[in-house]
Amino acid sequence: MIEIRGLHKSFGSLQVLKGIDLSMEHGKVLVIIGPSGSGKTTLLRCFNLLEIPDQGSLSLGELNLEFTQNRKIPHKTLMALRQKTGMVFQSYNLFPHMTALGNVMEGQVTVQKRSKEEAKQRGLELLAKVGLSDKAEAYPHQLSGGQQQRVAIARAMAVDPEVLLFDEPTSALDPELVGEVLKVIKQLAAEGMTMVIVTHEMKFAADVADRIILMDNGVILEQGTPQQVLEQTENPRALQFLNRLS
Ligand code: ATP
Repeated sequence: MIEIRGLHKSFGSLQVLKGIDLSMEHGKVLVIIGPSGSGKTTLLRCFNLLEIPDQGSLSLGELNLEFTQNRKIPHKTLMALRQKTGMVFQSYNLFPHMTALGNVMEGQVTVQKRSKEEAKQRGLELLAKVGLSDKAEAYPHQLSGGQQQRVAIARAMAVDPEVLLFDEPTSALDPELVGEVLKVIKQLAAEGMTMVIVTHEMKFAADVADRIILMDNGVILEQGTPQQVLEQTENPRALQFLNRLS
């Protein structure tokens, strides 16, 4: 269970999150949509404290965090939260000097202190899961964007996170490579992985989401099932955004 209450975040004088409330259950997929600059990525980065909120609270499992502007989050708390989350970035962010398998083993060995043999076994399992068994020894520059993103997903899964966070996972990909990455994410959803996904792919959002939140200008305009948000909203600004896309 993840719960966020009254979350605020500013960058200097720019207020980017203006009081976000949301909750999601284990095993569900939450998709965040909205216009460019509405605060989607910032909200996602608050889930694992890549951005520290100025105000509000965040609960993930048994961890409960309260934010105030001047309170520093203890390093131990930060690490505990990060271990519960796996992040997949828009531009993959693989370690360029490591093979696909090396990338998937790294966090397991350094963070989780697994033995190399154990990390290798789990790494190979995860590469098989994302359809890349034959690329274990390839370096990132030898892989297509879609393959690199699939390695990034395997890497994020490797530390057994409670929730996977995706920041526009397909937006850096050539159109013909988008499908293979979305397929892997859908497969994880079907297996009950808890996920929060920022995306501009509306069809994918409709397919994979249990709940969608539509953000605008730092607030949640609409939230509900894909049908409620994408088809039944009567909010003028939401309609403006959705109509622009169709
Ligand atoms: P997009 O769909 O274009 O990725 P978004 O909805 O994800 O947009 P954010 O990336 O969260 O929006 O950005 C919201 C606002 O916050 C933007 O105006 C952005 O320029 C600003 N912003 C984001 N990160 C920072 C930062 N580290 N420093 C200053 N401003 C930032």
